[in-house]
Amino acid sequence: MTEWVHRFGAGRGDVDGADSQLLGGKGANLSRMAGLGIPVPPGFTVTTEVCGHFERHDGGYPSEVDGQVRDAMTALGAAMEAGFGDPERPLLVSVRSGAPVSMPGMMDTVLNLGLNDQTVEGLARQTGDPRFAWDCYRRFIAMYSEVVMGVKAESEHDESPFARLLDEAKRRAGVVEDHELDEKALRQLVTDAKRAIVDATGSEIPSDPTEQLWGAIGAVFRSWNGRRARVYRRLHGIDDSMGTAVNVQAMVYGNMGPDSATGVAFTRNPASGDNRLYGEFLINAQGEDVVAGVRTPQPIDELARLMPDVHAELSSIADRLEDHFADMQDLEFTVQHGKLWLLQTRTGKRTGRAMVEIAASLVAAGKIDTREAVLRMDPDKLDELMHPTIDPANKPDAAGQGLPASPGAAVGEIVFTADEAEALGARGKKVILMRTDTSPEDIHGMQAAVGILTARGGMTSHAAVVARGMGIPCVAGCSDLAIDAANQRARIGSVELTAGTVITIDGSTGEVFPCAAELRPAEIGGAFDSIMAWADEHRRLQVRANADNAADARTALRFGAAGIGLCRTEHMFFEPERILAVREMILADDEDRRRAALAKILPMQRSDFLELFRVMDGKSVTIRLLDPPLHEFLPTQAEEIEEVARDLGVTPEAVARSIEEHREANPMLGHRGCRLAISYPEICETQVRAIAEAAVAAASEGVSVRPEIMVPLVADPGELRILRPIIERVFGEVVGAAGTEIPYLVGTMMELPRACLLADEIAEEAEFFSFGTNDLTQTTFGLSRDDAERFLGDYIKRDVLARDPFVALDQRGVGKLVTRAVADGREIKPGLKVGICGEHGGEPASVEFCHRAGLDYVSCSPFRLPVARVAAARAALLDDE
Ligand code: ADP
Ligand code: MG
Ligand code: MG
Repeated sequence: MTEWVHRFGAGRGDVDGADSQLLGGKGANLSRMAGLGIPVPPGFTVTTEVCGHFERHDGGYPSEVDGQVRDAMTALGAAMEAGFGDPERPLLVSVRSGAPVSMPGMMDTVLNLGLNDQTVEGLARQTGDPRFAWDCYRRFIAMYSEVVMGVKAESEHDESPFARLLDEAKRRAGVVEDHELDEKALRQLVTDAKRAIVDATGSEIPSDPTEQLWGAIGAVFRSWNGRRARVYRRLHGIDDSMGTAVNVQAMVYGNMGPDSATGVAFTRNPASGDNRLYGEFLINAQGEDVVAGVRTPQPIDELARLMPDVHAELSSIADRLEDHFADMQDLEFTVQHGKLWLLQTRTGKRTGRAMVEIAASLVAAGKIDTREAVLRMDPDKLDELMHPTIDPANKPDAAGQGLPASPGAAVGEIVFTADEAEALGARGKKVILMRTDTSPEDIHGMQAAVGILTARGGMTSHAAVVARGMGIPCVAGCSDLAIDAANQRARIGSVELTAGTVITIDGSTGEVFPCAAELRPAEIGGAFDSIMAWADEHRRLQVRANADNAADARTALRFGAAGIGLCRTEHMFFEPERILAVREMILADDEDRRRAALAKILPMQRSDFLELFRVMDGKSVTIRLLDPPLHEFLPTQAEEIEEVARDLGVTPEAVARSIEEHREANPMLGHRGCRLAISYPEICETQVRAIAEAAVAAASEGVSVRPEIMVPLVADPGELRILRPIIERVFGEVVGAAGTEIPYLVGTMMELPRACLLADEIAEEAEFFSFGTNDLTQTTFGLSRDDAERFLGDYIKRDVLARDPFVALDQRGVGKLVTRAVADGREIKPGLKVGICGEHGGEPASVEFCHRAGLDYVSCSPFRLPVARVAAARAALLDDE
């Protein structure tokens, strides 16, 4: 005979092996607690297998279930000295859903099931407390009809009919709080509620307790296939066939007067990780009252004062449970006439800071090993520790809400232009650059700002991407914000802002505050460093950083970079005193003028590279040759055009004509990357000369230099066959003339599908591949990232895509190009070095993919390095398992 029903604490394996697949998380843990001798109201679990059967048989149950549930109810009655439906000593139960993984969208719990017009009187007589009995009854009626019979509020903004009736009852009685209603008021409330149910559904709430029980059990199983639950499972990759269990448990009452209470507790502080019992409780209340906010709960320390014995017992149970599960637990408890009952234990949710603190502390206590500590990390949450946060104790009210585009909080004066940001920043002022959106010309201002706020744009807008790269907090797409930059004014919600107004942005939540909030500094060091060290022990992927200058490189080293995976040379060009030379180079109409412009650029680049090599002493530095679309450099203002004309010795009209000639239909897919270097080899020569001269200079100072020269936007091996000899010639000349030898590599950025398809041929010409997954995603999808926001949301909502492919690497499509290219490339050149340098290099699921794909390294922005290190370690540990 199959055991479809499992009584709490009855099985032999319960204490260490209660099976949460079969019993669900809640049921398995209730069973374990009972097995450990912790006071848990008796009860039983109807297993997930019954749910499976229920689904396959159109709501039918296995034939033995009915008898097994009846037997279990009889046993429950015996244990409680009560009978289900007994008018004198009624047994009341809760019916609770519980899937193997915790999951919102499932049926809510029904409490006090078994009450009807007869049993409520019995309960009143038995307890001598009619007010209590009618309080239970009105709660049962509301919960049962809401969760089982589907009585709902008219719309999302309305109150449920019961909440409305309860408010009316309190108003009539002239009281403020639920527990102040007397018996008479509660009786009336029950009558009104029953009528409301008939009005809403046309039928009455069942009075037969057995019918109530099966109604609730069936509702739990049906909720497994409800829309909300299905959507949640799909989003989180949870198996649909798992099913949910149902727990039926004898009621205990926290609403029996001043010596009764209900509460929640954490074995440690879930915000700080502090090893101290934490939580809240309410006297004379039941179930959800604590979280539902009907009254303001009291902190758990108060329990020590009001009920010292209960507090002591709860503390010791908390210790035992944490010991047993070797992790912080989140507990539900109820006190009935001074006696403590536990109703749930589960692994507690926590902040990033608590996650790190608790794991390190459990390792120190010998409860878990370092592998387990790393596996318990949610890498994304590490971000929280690396940036200042708003002190939660003194959090002001937000005036607007945008997207959490780059984590961390910042306080500063608002400025409306990049130039002002730069000017004030240079004077040591903390400024927040506030723009409708940003563009590459704003880089200098973004760099000088402590935070960036835009009214338009999404998570992958220019502002968001650049801010994340720089590690600067950013709130993007704040639609509550209206900017009138010309008049140096803005409005957020109902608040007027002018230049110099101090505001706070929280890039982790997307909130904007019209005042200076109190910040808490970043919290790296201590436990954070321990976790990082353990991650480094276990990971096999190398982790590099995307860094364009020496300052970024220093940050990268601080966060554990093994090298630089991507240095974008053009970012060096946007600085005001350099952009003129770049414009001259582009707009020059003959080679001589171009070379003259390039001659101005050479020393600038050389000194940038030299500084970079010095900082990265002994580590690889991948430098990408000039790549960006030309239009990003072209002058637009008349005075800029005149300036270029003057320097080139031509007329402004000639320059304007030249700009016109350079205009491309689609610059993203235009004359850029290696295509530019093939048309104008002198650009490539100059850059390689700058790299080689810097390398020679660094080497002469005793620095160990390891340049890796990367050719962007390769689509065909033929392009490398043209450029590689140029690179080798120039590098050879410079190094030869200096009489030294510097080992270097020439490789390519893999960012076009065609390159991936021809990876074997390209590998003949390249010593490394670096997948530029930002552009590879754009070119594989045929989709510009800046335009994706218009419809990606719909695609995700309608399940075309599971996640934004610019955030998490599209493993099905783009990932297939990557794995294929790696395999084909390595077949030709077994030692081919392979990495990725898109933003995906700092996204945990993508890092795991890179590990499985056998890449040598991932490269990401410096502030994502800890995330990447931990994600890489988890990938290796999961792989070993
Ligand atoms: P959720 O998963 O939403 O927390 P639960 O099944 O844990 O739902 O229960 C909701 C509330 O009812 C919790 O506060 C829980 O402690 C309380 N509760 C559940 N069963 C009982 C019971 N048998 N006696 C008293 N309170 C209960
Ligand atoms: Mg619960
Ligand atoms: Mg690119």
